[in-house]
Amino acid sequence: MTVGVYQGVGGGLSTCMTLDENLPVAAASASAVRLVPPTDPLYVSGWGRFAVHLDDTVDLDDLVFAVDPPEGGLVSHSRDETFDEDHPDVVVAACGLPGTYELHAYDRWSRDLLATTTFRVDDAWAGPDGPPVAYVGRVGDPAGTPAWGGGDPYLPQNLDVHPTVGQRRVAVVLVETTDLDPLADADAAVLRDTWRAEVFDGVLHGGVTESAAIYWHEVSDHQLTLVDAGVVGPLRLGSAWDAITTADSTGKSEGVFPFARAGIAAVRAENAARAADGLPPLVDLTTVDTVVVVPRSIPADPVTGFPGRFQWPYATVRGTDDQAFEVDRLVVDAGFTQISLPVMRVIQCSSMPHDWDARGSRTIAETASHELGHTFGLPDEYAMDGDAPTYQARDLDGWTLMSSERNAPEPTVPEKMRLGWVRAGKVRTLSAAVSGPVDEEVVLHNAEHGPAPAGRYAAVELRIRDGENYYFEYRRDRPTEVSDQSLPADLTVLGTHVLSGDVPSEERRPILRIRDDGDGDRGEFQRGDDYRETDTTDPSYPNDFALRVLETRPEYARVKLTYGDAKPDPQIRPYAMSTHWQSPDVEVANARSQTPGLRNVPWAGHPNTVLATVRNPGKVDAPGVRVEFSWLDMTVAGGPEMPLGSQTLDVPTDAEVVFTAPTTWVPPTSSSPHFCVVARIAEYTVAGAREIIVDNNVGRSNYSRVVSASASPSTRTGGVVKVTNPYPVAADCVVSVLQTSPIQRTYLEHSWVRLEPHGERDVAFRTESMIGDPNLPDALLSQFVGSLYEPRDELRLTGIARLGTGCHGHVTGGAGVLVTSGRATRFVRFEVVDGVATGQVEEVGGGHPASGSVLVTLRRDPDGPAREVAVELPVRNGTFRGQVTEEIRPQDIRWAQAHFVGGNGQAPCDSDELLP
Ligand SMILES: [Zn+2]
Repeated sequence: MTVGVYQGVGGGLSTCMTLDENLPVAAASASAVRLVPPTDPLYVSGWGRFAVHLDDTVDLDDLVFAVDPPEGGLVSHSRDETFDEDHPDVVVAACGLPGTYELHAYDRWSRDLLATTTFRVDDAWAGPDGPPVAYVGRVGDPAGTPAWGGGDPYLPQNLDVHPTVGQRRVAVVLVETTDLDPLADADAAVLRDTWRAEVFDGVLHGGVTESAAIYWHEVSDHQLTLVDAGVVGPLRLGSAWDAITTADSTGKSEGVFPFARAGIAAVRAENAARAADGLPPLVDLTTVDTVVVVPRSIPADPVTGFPGRFQWPYATVRGTDDQAFEVDRLVVDAGFTQISLPVMRVIQCSSMPHDWDARGSRTIAETASHELGHTFGLPDEYAMDGDAPTYQARDLDGWTLMSSERNAPEPTVPEKMRLGWVRAGKVRTLSAAVSGPVDEEVVLHNAEHGPAPAGRYAAVELRIRDGENYYFEYRRDRPTEVSDQSLPADLTVLGTHVLSGDVPSEERRPILRIRDDGDGDRGEFQRGDDYRETDTTDPSYPNDFALRVLETRPEYARVKLTYGDAKPDPQIRPYAMSTHWQSPDVEVANARSQTPGLRNVPWAGHPNTVLATVRNPGKVDAPGVRVEFSWLDMTVAGGPEMPLGSQTLDVPTDAEVVFTAPTTWVPPTSSSPHFCVVARIAEYTVAGAREIIVDNNVGRSNYSRVVSASASPSTRTGGVVKVTNPYPVAADCVVSVLQTSPIQRTYLEHSWVRLEPHGERDVAFRTESMIGDPNLPDALLSQFVGSLYEPRDELRLTGIARLGTGCHGHVTGGAGVLVTSGRATRFVRFEVVDGVATGQVEEVGGGHPASGSVLVTLRRDPDGPAREVAVELPVRNGTFRGQVTEEIRPQDIRWAQAHFVGGNGQAPCDSDELLP
C-alpha cells in the first residue's frame, strides 16, 4: 500500500512519501490526545514546549502538529536530549504578531483533528533574564560583517568598516502603552509633525535649520541621505509599561529591545490589518533600515509619588549587536494544512522618549543624530564611570557627536573613515613596516570643507600596531552651519588615539584624545604647537615621531612630520566577530583536516596539533620569539587554561613563521564540544629593545561543531554559550544570534541574562535542520535552498554586555558554531582482521549506501589516543576495505574504530570501538 502524505504544493511542485505498508492505518480517537501549552504566554518570536498527553492507543510518531491560523507560529517535530518518551512535547516557535492562536494535533494517517489547545503570543515579559527567542531561517548577513582592515601595512585601517553611503530608510514609530489614554487625533498629528521636523524636514534652532537628516547629509559630504520611511503612530501596544520593560526608581527604562520588539510587533499588526483591506503597509518592514521607536512617557504623579515612566535614548550598533525581527511570514501549503515560515530581518533600532527636548538641554535632532550614528555602526565615545581616570581625562567631549552631541559636532575623521566617506588616498599613512625615515610637510584639509582636494590629506594615520593608530585631522568653528558650530577650540589640529575591532577595551572608549607629551595640549594643536614621542623606554610609544603645526588657514593646516622607527614587532592577530571568533593565525590540524569542510575543526577524542602563525611587520628581525600554547574546555564553567607547551623560533622582518605546540592535544569527547585554543607570544625583548607593544600578542580561537543528522525528523542538538560580564558593574548580557542557513532553526534559552560584576553564566542554545520535518516536505524546502544538503550553517553567537551607562551594549566575546546537516548514517559492519579493515556504512532508514571515506584509527593502548594511528580508506557503494598496518603491526593493535567523515549530504558517524 502506498500512502501519499503530501498533496500538491504551490508552484506546481508536488511530492509523495512512500510508506511501508505495515504502518498503522486505524485512526486514533480524539480523546486519546491532549495538548497543554506553557503556563505563560509566548513572547513575540519566542518559543515554548507544549506537553502532549497520549493514551495507549496512539504514538507520537502518528501525530502531525500545526498552528492555526498558520501565521501564529511554526511547530518543530525534532527531538533533543531533553525528550522524554513518557512525557513527550513539541516545540512551537511563536510568530512576531501578538494574538491568540491554536495548536492542532492531527492523525498522520486519517488526517483527523485529534486535539486542540489555544495559546497567546504577546509583547510582555517579566523577569531579570530575557525571554527565550527562536531564529528561523537565515538571520543577518555574515558577508556584511565589519572588518577594520587589519594586516596590510600599506593601507589605512578603519576604512569602510560600516559603509553608510546612499540612502538609508528611517522610520519613526510613536507608541503608547495600555496604561495611557489614547492621544487625541489633533495631538497625535502635532507629535508626528514635531518628530518629522526634528528627524527629517528641519527645525529652526538659533538661526540654523537643523534635523538629523540635514546633519548627516552635511557631515557625509552629501554621501548619505536619510529617507523618511514614515513618521507614524502613536500605535497602541498590547501591554502596560511595566509589563513591557522595567523602570528604575526615577521612572527611567533602559535598553532598546523591549520597546523595539513591541513597536515592530505593533507595526506588523497594523500592516497585516492594512493588507487585509488591500492597503499598503504603514511602514514597510521589508525595506526599512532603521526604526526609531518613541514611547509616550507617562507623567509623574506628585500626589502618589509615582515618578512616571520614560525611555532613555538607546540604540543598536550596526555590526555588533544586530538583532533580527520577524517582518513577514510566508504561508505555504503543506498538505494537511497550511504552515508559515517567518521572514526574519536585521533592523537597526533606537528608542527615545517622545518628550526628549523637555528633559534636558539637547534637541531631539541632536540626540536622534547621535542615536542614528549608532545604527550606522559608531559606538559611544564619552567616558564611562568604570573607565580608568587617565582615560576619562582624554574624553573627546565636543570633538565628536558620539561623545557629546550638543551643538552638533561632526564625527572625527576616523569615524568618517569607518562609514566609508574618506578615500584611502586621502589618508597619509606612517607604518613601521613600510615607512622609511620621514621628514616632510603635509597639508591637512579642513574636515568640514568637503573632500580633500589634490595635494591635501583628510588625516595623518600613524600605525602603532595592527588595530591601534593615531590620527591627526584639522577642525574649525562654523557658527552659522549645521555642524561644528562651537568646537572646544578653533583652528585646531586634533590628535586621536584609536583602537579598532569589535571587542572593546574594558577600560577605555575606542577613540580618545592622543595622550599628552608633556606640554599639556590635550590632543589640541594650534599654530606653533607640537606633539612628539621620544620616550623610547615606554614600549607602546613608537620611536621618534613628531608633528608640528606650521600654519593654520580657514581651509587647511600645514604640518611637519618627522618619523623613524626600528623595532621588532612579532604579532598574532586576535579573534573577532568578523572571523567567527577565531584568530586567523591559529589552526588545529588532525587526521580529518584534509576532508572538505573539516579543515581547522578539532577532533574530540583524537590527536590534534595546534599551530600558530607569527608575523613580524617591524623593520628589524625578531630572534628567539617564544609562543606559549594552551586550551580551555568551554563547556565547563570557569575551566582552567591547560598548557600545551611552548616553542621558540626566529621571526625575520616581514616574514611569517609557523609555530607548533609541542604537546599533542586530545580534546575530551562530550555531547556539545566547545573548545578555546590560545597561542600567546611571551613578552618580547631583544638587545634591550622591547617590541613595539607587548600586550597585543594573543590569538584565541573558539571551536564548536555540531551535526544535525536527519532521519525523520532531524535531531535537535546544541550546547551552551558562555556569557561573561567583564565589567565591575552588573549588566544585562545579551546573546546576539546570526545564522547562514535558510533551513536552520535555532532556539535560545534567554535573549539576555542578568549578570553580577565579573559574573558568568551558560546560556543554552539548540539548533536543528528543517530537513525531515513532516510538515516541510523536501520539495518545499528545496524552493528555499536548492540542493538541501549543501548548506552548512554557520551559527554565530555573540555576547553583548549592557551596563546601564551609554546608549548600547559592549561585545564581550562569542562563539562560532559550525552546524552540518546530513542524512543520518550508521556502520552496519566494521572489523580488522590480519591488518585489513573492512566494513559497511549506510543511511539510516532506507539503507542507501554511503559514499566518501572513512578514517580508521588504531591504538597500541586503548587509553592512549595521543599516539594513535589514522588511515584513510575510500567508501564505495557503502563498503570499504584496506590494509591499515603500515605504521602499526597487526599484533600491536589493542583498539580500533572507524569514522565515516560525512559529506555529499550524509552525516558523519562512528563505528563501535573494537578491542581485538
Ligand atoms: Zn550613544
